[in-house]
Amino acid sequence: MFEEKKCPECGCEEIGKGKLSGYANLAPVGKFFSMGSAILADVCTNCGLIIRLRAEKPDKFKS
Ligand SMILES: [Zn+2]
Repeated sequence: MFEEKKCPECGCEEIGKGKLSGYANLAPVGKFFSMGSAILADVCTNCGLIIRLRAEKPDKFKS
């Protein structure tokens, strides 16, 4: 799968990976006892733009 690795704001091609976890977990709506999923972020290392956010475990959001 092709993945765009370039910042749309400044054109920088060095994209870092970040992870939001703990209190920033993304929890499925209406599922109280679910652990939810950490959030993965692609961050431009030049200007700091967060290019995309992605749930680490998308299957948790299936109804
Ligand atoms: Zn940038």
